[in-house]
Amino acid sequence: MNSGDDDCRRISRRAAVSGAALALGAAAIATAVPEAAAQQKISQADAQYQGTPKGGQHCDGCINFQSPKTCKFVQGDISPGGWCQLFTPKS
Ligand code: SF4
Repeated sequence: MNSGDDDCRRISRRAAVSGAALALGAAAIATAVPEAAAQQKISQADAQYQGTPKGGQHCDGCINFQSPKTCKFVQGDISPGGWCQLFTPKS
């Protein structure tokens, strides 16, 4: 009998269990973060939203615009002719 071997096995099992718990925790966080980000919108003021186009840019030409009057990232009613600093042109 070698008590050193037993200690090694105990430590290895503990390390494996801890590793599995960490992996599960990381997976849960990785899943939760995109969902939280998708649910939270910023205020129109924070986005520097305006109800008029800026240059040739307007919400109707932005990939974040959701017809008829919402945006993926900005709260409230959004005009197709509006604009904010998150503008990202449709390709
Ligand atoms: S310009 Fe701003 S407010 Fe308009 S759709 Fe794009 S991200 Fe939303």
